[in-house]
Amino acid sequence: MSAIKKGRVFSGARPTGRQHLGNYLGAIQNYIALQKDYECVYCIVDIHALTTVDSTESLRSNTYEMALDWLAAGMRPEETVIFIQSQVPEVTELHTYLSMVTPLGKLTDLPTFKEKARMQPHNVNYGLVGYPVLMTADIVLYKAGLVPVGIDQAPHLEFARETVRSFNFRFNTSVLIEPSMIATDSPRVLGIDGQQKMSKSLDNHIELASSEAETVQRVMQMVTDPQRMRRSDPGRPEVCNVFSMHKVFSSPEEISMVDLECRRAGIGCVECKQLYARNLNTHLAPFRHRRAELAKDTNLVWDVLREGQQRARALAHQTMAEVRQAIGLP
Ligand code: SF4
Repeated sequence: MSAIKKGRVFSGARPTGRQHLGNYLGAIQNYIALQKDYECVYCIVDIHALTTVDSTESLRSNTYEMALDWLAAGMRPEETVIFIQSQVPEVTELHTYLSMVTPLGKLTDLPTFKEKARMQPHNVNYGLVGYPVLMTADIVLYKAGLVPVGIDQAPHLEFARETVRSFNFRFNTSVLIEPSMIATDSPRVLGIDGQQKMSKSLDNHIELASSEAETVQRVMQMVTDPQRMRRSDPGRPEVCNVFSMHKVFSSPEEISMVDLECRRAGIGCVECKQLYARNLNTHLAPFRHRRAELAKDTNLVWDVLREGQQRARALAHQTMAEVRQAIGLP
């Protein structure tokens, strides 16, 4: 018998294909951990992706690869609802209703909209403006009371809360639930350039599903303390990205050793990276093994997503009946 859960959690992620260490430490680990105490609804937000992608060619394969990574990392479809956003079209209907209680100026004033418009001036589409409204619909459609967000995403959730209040006030109802935030500890994972956030588009990432040899190769490319030019120069672990990763994947003894030996040039960067790469590969070995096993059945991921769609749709169906009634639609 499954334990009583504390509430329903919703989170969505764009289909970005094979996941990297930044995705893993920033989101996937939290997703997995939350399953223990919460009823989780995890969505691959392909409609959101349409606001920024130029080509939709890889949407299907990116969805497959990401879902496979989620499952291999420990997502449990027996209890967690895992599905594709566009396969529950009720979300677009709810988005439309919510848009009627959202002032346009509020959307165009959001820093995230301004940032996106700056990044793609050739494609400032209507969907981009309404993105936070669709995000709100994602959450409230499944009556999720909780959303795991890093502190930098807190304004998005506040927007969702305000939109729910506006809707409930406008239609004199309490049908939509104001979501609360579960603060998650999401470290900012830098790419192998040691400068920017790890990202596929910057090609500074390390994929979870890479082979051991590919992982070693990427780790060896990592930028270290720029002041450590020669092997005999003492280093500064506190400014080195390799050391940050040791803190995640190495043992306390190894972390102390690197901290000490780097400062007195007792360890070289090559050796230090080899140690990190070895520990990273050891950590990822069970994930990689599970991924390879799951991939043998090419239908498995799609079956999981189809089953998730049915469960998500049942929740959505119920909410939409209540929403239409609250609005007074005939
Ligand atoms: S020895 Fe390790 S921690 Fe020190 S600078 Fe080199 S890679 Fe970074």
